[in-house]
Order: sequence, then structure tokens, then C-alpha cells
Amino acid sequence: MKISSIFSQVSVLAYEDTLERVKSPLRDLYRAAIENGAGGQAKLVNLDMEEFRDLHLTCDVFKAVLEEPEFHHLEAGIVLQAYLPDSFALQQDLTAWARARRKRGGAGIKLRLVKGANLAMEKVEAAIEGWEQAPYESKGQVDANFKRMLHYGCEPLHAAAVRLGVGSHNIFDVAYALLLREREGVREQVEIEMLEGMANHQARVVEDMAGSLLFYAPVVRRENFHSAIAYLMRRLDENTAPENFLHDLFGMRPGGPKWTEQCERFLLACGAKDAVSAVSARQQDRGAEYGEIVGTRFGNEPDTDWTRERNREWARAALQVVRIPAVVAAQIGGRERMTREQTGSCDPAAPEEVLYRSALAGMLEVEEALETAAEWDRAWMAGRGFTARELLVRTATALARARGDLIATMVRDAGKAVAEADSEVSEAIDFANYYAQSLSQPGLCDGTERLPLGVVVVAPPWNFPLAIACGGILAALAAGNSVILKPPPETVLTAWRLAETLWRAGVPKEALQFVPVPEDEVGRRLLTDERVGGVILTGAYETAQLFKSWKPSMRLFAETSGKNAMLITAAADPDQAIKDLVKSAFGHAGQKCSAASLAIVEAEIYDDEIFLRQLRDAAASLRVGPAREPASVVTPVIREPGAALRRGLTGLDEGEEWLLEPAMVGGNPCLWSPGIKTGVRPESWYRRTECFGPVLGLVRARDFEDGLRIQNDSQYGLTGGLQSLDAREIRVWRERVEVGNAYVNRPTTGAIVRRQPFGGWKKSAVGPGAKAGGPNYVLQLGTWRERALPRQIRESPWSRLVERYCALLPDAAERIRSAAGSYSYWWHREFSVEHDPSRVLGESNVYRYRPHPEILVHCDGLRDQDLALAMLALKTCGVAAQCSSSRGRASTMALVQAAGFDLQIESEKNLRARLDDRIPLLRAVNPSGELRQAAAASGVEVLDRPVLANGRIELLHYVREQAVTETMHRYGNLIARP
Ligand code: NAD
Repeated sequence: MKISSIFSQVSVLAYEDTLERVKSPLRDLYRAAIENGAGGQAKLVNLDMEEFRDLHLTCDVFKAVLEEPEFHHLEAGIVLQAYLPDSFALQQDLTAWARARRKRGGAGIKLRLVKGANLAMEKVEAAIEGWEQAPYESKGQVDANFKRMLHYGCEPLHAAAVRLGVGSHNIFDVAYALLLREREGVREQVEIEMLEGMANHQARVVEDMAGSLLFYAPVVRRENFHSAIAYLMRRLDENTAPENFLHDLFGMRPGGPKWTEQCERFLLACGAKDAVSAVSARQQDRGAEYGEIVGTRFGNEPDTDWTRERNREWARAALQVVRIPAVVAAQIGGRERMTREQTGSCDPAAPEEVLYRSALAGMLEVEEALETAAEWDRAWMAGRGFTARELLVRTATALARARGDLIATMVRDAGKAVAEADSEVSEAIDFANYYAQSLSQPGLCDGTERLPLGVVVVAPPWNFPLAIACGGILAALAAGNSVILKPPPETVLTAWRLAETLWRAGVPKEALQFVPVPEDEVGRRLLTDERVGGVILTGAYETAQLFKSWKPSMRLFAETSGKNAMLITAAADPDQAIKDLVKSAFGHAGQKCSAASLAIVEAEIYDDEIFLRQLRDAAASLRVGPAREPASVVTPVIREPGAALRRGLTGLDEGEEWLLEPAMVGGNPCLWSPGIKTGVRPESWYRRTECFGPVLGLVRARDFEDGLRIQNDSQYGLTGGLQSLDAREIRVWRERVEVGNAYVNRPTTGAIVRRQPFGGWKKSAVGPGAKAGGPNYVLQLGTWRERALPRQIRESPWSRLVERYCALLPDAAERIRSAAGSYSYWWHREFSVEHDPSRVLGESNVYRYRPHPEILVHCDGLRDQDLALAMLALKTCGVAAQCSSSRGRASTMALVQAAGFDLQIESEKNLRARLDDRIPLLRAVNPSGELRQAAAASGVEVLDRPVLANGRIELLHYVREQAVTETMHRYGNLIARP
């Protein structure tokens, strides 16, 4: 058995804690083995390990429990896999330990040597994580290591303390082991082992020849049969993988070609047995890294590999030396400022204590910061001899060097668990390396010139206090802007450490100022000043609305709230669905914007008591505790729950019941155990309200269609999940789900730069809506002007319309033709194509554009030729339009009607009155203040940039971006891509 089947919360990061916790059920098992033995001999309990992750833990717990006096005379077993280079050293270690135990009068142990059966999964996991693959790269190396370990195990001194089981179906290896055991005189200590159901005829022959055979048969209760599927799949893999022996066994004849090939493989492996590496493939060592600069091609920064003991030590050390200042200063005009007005922040694990204070800027400081930012000389980089791109790459290096310090800061300041904080640092590094390249996309400018927005204020949230802030700052800098970072009050220290890191990397203090402000008229002043060219906000939808109400013309780039659901259909793998759902709902205590706060479950599964029990058990077994304890999964929420979260955690609405009732833990009002409520109705309060904490609601759906309808019936559209193995359901869902980030058969959280650019639809975004970590994010942080006609063109499918427009506007004919050609070119090349630049093994990460269903066009501010271009752009993208004009000019009418759209002649007042979120987009150039105000008040986005002939930029207005990620493997077996 595996340790994960006796303890569900195995965490390599919390190594010591896991070790202690696995001991107790293992003791119980060993006791049962002794009690149930026969003839004075205990039953053999064999500890297996399926995943590399569990290798050292399994060996350590095995030794630790068998060291206890109670088990001194128990012979227990353990399995080592030859496909791991690490196994040989462990075999030596276990042997030395077992010999010492024997010397002290104790029992020996049993070691089963196998080649390893989880290769496919290890490969996929390594590819997704960006780590080296733990098993050897080639089968030849595995075979060689197997022989080395076989030889070592057959040495008489070793075999005396460690009985060896040779688990192989390769008859060359079996024969070799039989010869070796005779030669070494260890016949009694070395035994052949085979599995039931693999090649039983072979097992019978081997048993005859060897005199005995240990025959393994898996056993499962009927009601738990689905738990055996993974095991059976692996067996099937073994029988079918082309390079595996069993694949060839059935058609093999001595002397035939397959025989000869196997023979050659065998001999090669014998020759290589002493030379093959025994060094672990996984060598990441955070303590020895200096933030090497990545090459010119973008690649994601891997998270920390916690299977490495050195890395765990490195993190422990970092947590111990975290620097907490008494007061965090502001940084304005190149100087630190200690203002009189200060506010306190706390560690969510100890909310009653002030952890540090931060200096708040007043009106005077805000004015000075704005002045400095506005006057900042954009030629500074040229003067220093490096480009924005180089500067960003330098920040990536600095962030990598500061990883330990940044993690430790987030653990205290934001209550983030170490592993979550670690991923955030990786994401911040990715933003730097990715945005460094954003403006070098081939063909981007084509006739246009990009100007910075000027001063950009970045207002990030506390829940991703490092990565989101970093992404906003670096994107704004990459686009040539100066930045004022306005940290969230909850996590000022993390923002300060980030700013320090960026300054250290060479970002000038005038280009990045650090200005904490109170959320009153001072904050409002900062955000609404005329010198501010753009505001990057990540926060609540209401906050975005508030900012817009202050200044309707604000260029706001806001990523906002969500109410995310995972749809689980009757065709789902329930085990996988539960695992992914629990991770999505309760990671970072449910405080990720991408967290699943609802599961919409098809009746057949919803009504299944086993499903509900498993889900409840999985959530109930999550460790709840402060972030500084590495075993904690559900950590404290940032502050004592406000009204919405409190109601979510403590209240039930009509029809709702607790499957798992949340409770406050340890008297800390911020620390709550996870909660799950059933019976949530599609129209209920909980279904509609964002509750940012560890609570999940289950909605029952009649069938897949009903479930998808409920999922889409939301004012938000941030993330959404589907759990289903039915190809038809997956296809339909991918086409119809209304979210920015869609996830199939995996968790809905953990978006990675470029792989899953992040950002939502509907009320989950306010502004142009380019996704963070995607190809358009930096592009939107500037103003584009047309300088020449685009040259990259392709014949337009709308040629008749183009000719009609050219006839109507002969003076602009050349521009109209170029624009139509450019729109067509980019439609084909960029906007109608599904992109998967990351191409990760076992995961499809499609990034694509979906045309908006409909757009309002206000024709009054548009020149005729610009209106013609807008019409062509709409046609190219297949977007419907309603046009409005107060003048009813004949040319306007002709242009709109030629495109087949309706034109409503109405006063602007009339248009203002009918704006609402049914058509949430208004294309308008130079709109009046009143129109902007009305749009802001009714949640309508005004697309007010000048109309451009360059299709790469212009078409962005008419499409929304979507990232669809799908797990493309089952237990590591790759599923063919559609
Ligand atoms: P928030 O809206 O309260 O704050 C966001 C930012 O705006 C903070 O910097 C805050 O200080 C600032 N702010 C708020 N009111 C202000 C005011 N009156 N004056 C000046 N500044 C003001 O959000 P939060 O609580 O920090 O974060 C949680 C919210 O963020 C959730 O709704 C979550 O869904 C959302 N979120 C969305 C994404 C995304 O990518 N869509 C990512 C993370 C968080």
C-alpha cells in the first residue's frame, strides 16, 4: 500500500509533520499484521510508492516505525523503483540500516525491486511544473539501473538482511535473477514476484522453474471499484507501451526479430549497469540560485520543488529571518517619507496585534508624487544605455533572487501559505520576462505609432499582493509609462518589498513611486487627477464602479469580481472532480478570485451519497492553521469576515443544509474551517454573491444542459470549470461557456502567464479587457496613432462592401482598402485562430478570441471614413451592431445600411437613456461628458480610441479574449488533441 492511502494529506513541504502523521496509521497496520499472522509469522505489509514525490517520505516513515521497539521483530516490506536514479542510493541506505537492525537482534526487511509503473504521470507532471522528469529519460537506463540494484541486492551480506523480491515480467531479467541468486548462494532470500492478470501462463512456467513465486492479486470491494481504475490503467499501460517487454511478449519466438531486439536491449543494459547515473534528476536548489537571466525565448519559471530537502531548509530559514519594519514609509520623488498619518496592518494569524504601521500620503504628498511622475523623463532609459525590455529582464532576475524574502513576507503580511506564496513569486518573474517581449510581436505596429498613457496608478488587491501588483507595474513600465503604486492597506509591506526589489533592479524611483493613501478624498484625488493617464485596478466590481463614477473618462483597466462555478456532470470521474473541486474552493482559504465557490452537480452524482461523503471527508481533512505552519492548507482569511462572507459562512437560506459546517478555529475570528452547503438554489443569495472565503455551495442540476444554463446565468464571467469525460459535453461546453478562463477536468485556480492569460467577461472586467499575462496586456497601456497605411494585408471577404465604401468615399479609398486588407490579415492570423504557444505535455491551453455578440456604435463623433472602417471591422469579426446618430446625415445612413446594420436617428439624450448592460459596449470617438457619465452609471464600456486601419489593434475592440485549458491525459496517458 501507499502512504497516501493511509493519510490523505501527504505534503512534502510539511515533511516532518506528514512523517509524524503517517506513523500512527502505519503502526495500526503493522499491529494488525502481527495479530493476524500465522505460525508465528506476521503478514507482510508492503509499502509501495506510486509517485516520486512520496519516495523519501515512504522510506523515512518505514524506517522510523520499524525502529520502534514494538516492531523490532517485524519483517515488513518496501518497494523501490529502478526507473528513479534516486533508488540505488536508497537501496544502499535501507540495506545498511536493515543490517544494523539485524545486528541488534531485530528482523530484516523485504525489498521489492520493480522497474516503475508511473512513468506517464511523472512525465506529464514534470512538464506541467517545469521540473526535470524524475525517472530516467530512457528505458535503457532503467534496465541498467535495475540490474545494478539486482546485483547489489543479491550480494549475500545484503540479502541476509534484506530479502529481495524481483518484480518483473521480463523473462530475460527473471532468468538473470535466477542465475544470479544461484551464483551468490542466496536462493532462499531472492524471490520472483509477478502480478495476477498480466501474463499468467508465464507466471506458471516461472513458478515451475524457480520452485516458488510470489503472486500478487489486487483486491477491492465492489462499492469501491472505481478506485481501482487508476491501478488497472497502469497495468494496461504496461501491457501496451511499445518499449515494454510485455508489449512484445505475446508474439515473441526465441530467435525471432522481437526476441533478438529484447536480447540486445538486455545485453546493452548489462553493459551499462555500473555506469548509469545514480544522481537524482531533480536538482533544483533555491539556496544556490542567483536568478540567472533567462534566454531570449520566454519560458515559465518553475515553482519550488519541495521534494528537495535543501529547498525545504531554505524556506524554513527564510521564514525565520523575515524583516518586519516598525513603519513602512512612502517613497515619493526619490525620497522616503514618514508622514504623520499612519495606519496599522496585522498578520491574519494574530489579528489583534499590529504587525507594522505604514505612512499614508496626504494631499501634499500626492501632489508631489503626481508632479514627479508626470515630469519623469522618458528618455532616461536611452541615457542609461538599456531598453525597457532589458530592464524588465533585470527585474525578473532581482525577483528570483529575492524569492525567499518575498515568500516570507507574504506568509506574515498576507497569511499566504508558503507554496501559494512561492507560486506568486514565479508568476511575478513570468510577468517580467513575458511583458519584456510583448512589444516585439512581429508586425504589431504596421503603420501605427504607440505613445505612453503617461502616469499610471496601479491599485492591486491584497489576495495576490505580489504578482498582481508586479504585473501591473511592469506592463505599465514596458509601455513607457511612469507608475504610482498605491498598495492595498492590508498588504502594504509586501508591496513595499516588491517596489524595493524593482528599484534594486534599476527601475528609477521617479518612474515607480510608492504612495499608500487613505481610501478617502486623498485616494480619490490621486486616482482622478488629470495627469493620470490610466488606472490599473484589481478588486471588486463595486470599486471599479466607484472609480468610474468619480471620473467617467478615467482610463480604467480593471480585473474585478467573480462567482465561479464548476459544473460536474454524470460523465465525470468523481474522484478527480472532488480533488479538483476541493483544491479550487479552499486553496488560499477560498480567497483567490478564480476560486470555485459553487459546484453545479448533475442529479445522478448530486444524489449519490458516496460522492457527498467523499467530498465532505476531503474538505474536512484539509489542515486549517496559520500560514507559517507548512502543513496548513486553509489559512486565515485576510480580515474578520465582513457581512457577505459572514452570512456565507454562518447562514443558510431556504432549502440549504450544511454538508460540512464551517467553524471558527482557535478563537481567531479570521480562521475558519471549510464549509460546504447543499441545496443552493440557482436564484438564491449565495449563488449571486461573491463570498471571499472557505465556503462552497452545491447546486443540483437536472442534466448537463440545465447545469450549463445555471453556470452561464451569472452577472460575472471570470472562471468556470467542467468535469466530464464525455467528448460531446466537453465540445458543447467549450463553445458555450461564458467565462474568460475555462477549465476542463482540472482545478479552476492557478493561472500561469502565457499558458492561461487571466481575466474575465461580463462584470468580471471593466475596461478594454485584455488578459493579464496575455499578448495584448501591454498593448492596451498606450495610445495608438495612425502614421501610415498598414502594409500587411490579405484579400478581404467583404470586397463588395469595400468597393461600395470606396465609391461613397473616393478620397479615402486607399485607406479603406488597406484597412479592410489589414483586418482580414489579422483576423486570419490572430483573431480567428486558437493559439497554444506553451504546448505543455498533457494539457491543452488554448487562447482565443470570441466576437462580442453585439455592440452599440455612436456615429456622431466619427468621420465618415472612420465609420466605414468601424463597419468593416465589425463585419470582419462577425459582430452585430446597433448604430445611433443624432444627425441622420445621408452619408452616415448609406455607410451603416451598406453594412446591413440598423441606424437609429435619435438625440444623444435618448441614447443615454436607453444604455444598459444588455449591450455593454459602446464604440464612440470623442463622446460627450454626459454620454460617458451615463455609460459609467449603467455599466457600459466606452470604446473611445481612434479608429485605426491597423487590424491588429483595431479588432481588439470587437472581441473578448478567452483561455480554455483542458487536461489532456488520464493518469498520464495522453488523450489525442481535437
Ligand atoms: P477592493 O476592490 O476592495 O480593492 C482593490 C484595490 O482598490 C485596493 O488597492 C484598494 O486599496 C483600492 N481601493 C478600494 N477602494 C478604494 C477607494 N475608495 N479609494 C482608493 N482606493 C481604493 O478589492 P480587494 O478586497 O483588495 O480584493 C478582493 C476583490 O478583488 C474580489 O472582489 C476579487 O474577486 C477581486 N479580484 C479580482 C481579480 C481578477 O483578476 N479579476 C484578482 C484578484 C482579486
